[in-house]
Amino acid sequence: MSSGGSPAESGTWKELLRDLVRLELKRGCKDDAAVGGFSRLALATLEGSSTRTQHATQRGVSNGLRSLLVDYQFLPNHVRADRCAALLALLDDSVPPTGGSPLPADVPAVGATSVSKPSSDSMKALLQVLEEPVSKLWGVGPRVQEIMGKLGVASIADLLQHTPKGYLDLRHPAELSRESLGQMVLIKARLLAVTEIRRKVLLVKATARDPGGRMLHLVWFNNRFVRNRLQVGHDYDFYGRLENSFDGAHLMQPAFEESGTPAAQLHMNRIVPLYHLTSGITQKGLRAHVWRAVGRIPSVTAEYLPRDIASHFKLPDLAWSYRSLHFPTDEHEAEQARGRFAFDSLFLFELRVLMRRHAEQDVPGSPFDLPTGTVDRYVGALPFVSTASQTAAMRDIEGDVRRPRQMHRLLHGDVGSGKTAVAGYAAYAAKVAGYQSAVLSPTEILAEQTGRVLQELLAPLGLRVATLTGGTTKSQRKSILSAVANGEVDCLVGTHAILEEGVVFERLGLSVVDEQHRFGVAQRVALGTKGKEPHSLVMSATPIPRTLALTIYGDLDISELLEKPPGRFPIQTHLLTATKRDSAYAMVREQVAMGRQAFIVVPAIDPASDEGDSTVSVEETMRELTEGSLKGLRIASLHGRMKSSDKQSTMDAFRSGNLDALVATTVVEVGVDVPNASVMVIEDSERFGLATLHQLRGRVGRGSSVSHCMLIQGNVTAEGTERLQVLVDSDDGFQIAEEDLKLRGPGDILGTVQHGYDVPLFGSTALLSYRDLSALPEIRKVASELLERDPVLGAPEHADLTRMLSLRYPASKPGMEDN
Ligand code: ADP
Ligand code: MG
Repeated sequence: MSSGGSPAESGTWKELLRDLVRLELKRGCKDDAAVGGFSRLALATLEGSSTRTQHATQRGVSNGLRSLLVDYQFLPNHVRADRCAALLALLDDSVPPTGGSPLPADVPAVGATSVSKPSSDSMKALLQVLEEPVSKLWGVGPRVQEIMGKLGVASIADLLQHTPKGYLDLRHPAELSRESLGQMVLIKARLLAVTEIRRKVLLVKATARDPGGRMLHLVWFNNRFVRNRLQVGHDYDFYGRLENSFDGAHLMQPAFEESGTPAAQLHMNRIVPLYHLTSGITQKGLRAHVWRAVGRIPSVTAEYLPRDIASHFKLPDLAWSYRSLHFPTDEHEAEQARGRFAFDSLFLFELRVLMRRHAEQDVPGSPFDLPTGTVDRYVGALPFVSTASQTAAMRDIEGDVRRPRQMHRLLHGDVGSGKTAVAGYAAYAAKVAGYQSAVLSPTEILAEQTGRVLQELLAPLGLRVATLTGGTTKSQRKSILSAVANGEVDCLVGTHAILEEGVVFERLGLSVVDEQHRFGVAQRVALGTKGKEPHSLVMSATPIPRTLALTIYGDLDISELLEKPPGRFPIQTHLLTATKRDSAYAMVREQVAMGRQAFIVVPAIDPASDEGDSTVSVEETMRELTEGSLKGLRIASLHGRMKSSDKQSTMDAFRSGNLDALVATTVVEVGVDVPNASVMVIEDSERFGLATLHQLRGRVGRGSSVSHCMLIQGNVTAEGTERLQVLVDSDDGFQIAEEDLKLRGPGDILGTVQHGYDVPLFGSTALLSYRDLSALPEIRKVASELLERDPVLGAPEHADLTRMLSLRYPASKPGMEDN
């Protein structure tokens, strides 16, 4: 018999939830059974219910429901369907999900390997504050709310998570002395006189005397508000650069507050936080809002993490950390608080990734029945000797597909490491087992190329390969579709075009997604639904340091291609300032004279689209080069806005040697393989990320002689030069990524792989430093142990943790803007 709360108490919200779940199921589990997302509304309904009086058992049910919903939006459709079924079961029959009745909050579970912290009232109070919209703060009206939205701040949690980019130490007033000259200083002084002079500019001059009796002059230009805020005889805290002139010490344009006022306590006389801003809000303004938000934090200790985890990582208290992140009493406190939130980001992200992995791990799949020696037969038919890691990757794949579980494997390897040949093996194995395969590529150029390569590798083994893109003609498309539907095509390669509804496979058993970071989860899922739980192989060349790869791809098994195929000549990379451009193009002429070809890459398509900055565009560069440095050479341009047939014919002309040089945008970035190309010129190279530059450079060096990559630095800065120098010094994508990580922090790299996840990785990545990442393996281990004890975090003592998770990963939040 149901042991839930009385019907009067729980009937309505349960009815509501039941209806919602049924509707979601009916609509195919797309998380769209309600505006803003089914799971979000369901969770809100659930939260609403929990404010009413609840029986202990009822709480257990709510927690179970919540845990089924909390990561719903991240799940593939078929897992969602299971979740919906589980939700209905729980709703119809209010037995707690764990079977037994939940324990009173303060008694540890019998046999539990650790003592978890019970949800204390202080954490509940803190969560309540965190979950509120910023508009609940005094002074935040619709206008400020909109401005904050631009900073990615919607809730009070977001505001408190808006980490200072730095601090000013204004704890100690300076002496009016020679040593302070030229420095930014805080000086306390009594105002003696003010005068306002209106000439071409509005000039406000004042004199003041410090406690030691020394005189100080103050000057402001064009500031209408200064005069009214200054009163003779009052004491002020001034902050500005101290300068010396003929009549004594000056502060130019100082900021100031009247001494002893609350404003002086907030903006002066402390370690003052500085934030990334957006137009419409000032440091002072934002600081005041953060101050009020911090004021809402209960002044007791609060923690949502299980106690053993918090103590294992020696984490400072959460409530304390929020206060100290923004208003620390010394540098050490600020760093401790920042470290605490860096930990939270990594830990919560790990939990998310691992929860998905757990959910996907046991999805049944069709086992491929492969005779022994399948890898050997494939390798034997290749036109080259496969590298050791290519063969190892094929064996990994073989091991996966033989099992009655779906394969989820990532093939990770630097550009040119030979991933296509490994994908070919997967397609071959599918064919041997009687299945079709599909290969998804991000661009038409790549799809055509991959189709051609796979055709060459697989046709001798008896496979029929077809390629389908947006550029395929209607009649071709029609015949390909029917051949796919009746099983005449074994391997279909293509762009998004193969995801369309009209594409129906007879028996799809395997999907391959190339350059997976270019696709969202939805597209991978769409491909998955074209067969009955097909095995999935995704490929990526994004050079991510191993520490990060394990984390980011934590939901996948990984095979790595460590070495490049033999017989490659090194690429010589040269860094040039714009004044030395000519020598880059002299190199192009020289190589063309030797019968080789060149890529010239520029950042944008046409001058008009780039708001008047100095971007070298494709069209402009084309004109310049054909009339100047490369006069007489056969040159064509290639960019994303061209018609697909034009792109294809240009690419064909280049590949077959009818063009000497190609002026292109980054459409050539991924995967294009033209072995005869031996020079890569990159204009305004400082505008690209290191990972992209490395990918671009990988387009040359595929033939059998030395190749060259000329990096032209349009806008020279010391920082930029240091960064580009990394490319000159190294040809190892992983090492380059590591250096990039050190120089710029994890934000950039995470941005590159972001897309494949549809959720903000780690929340605000601006928070993370390179050093924080070293704790990742340990964090991952602890997160995984926690999930082993409580796979969906449904236990009552993890209720605060799941609430924190949904705060971090709200249902429909756009990507974070870090700057
Ligand atoms: P990527 O990993 O960047 O996708 P590709 O699969 O396009 O690399 O391979 C790059 C080039 O290397 C292709 O021309 C391919 O034919 C060649 N290749 C792949 N494996 C080998 C190998 N084991 N030996 C020699 N050449 C190889
Ligand atoms: Mg490739």
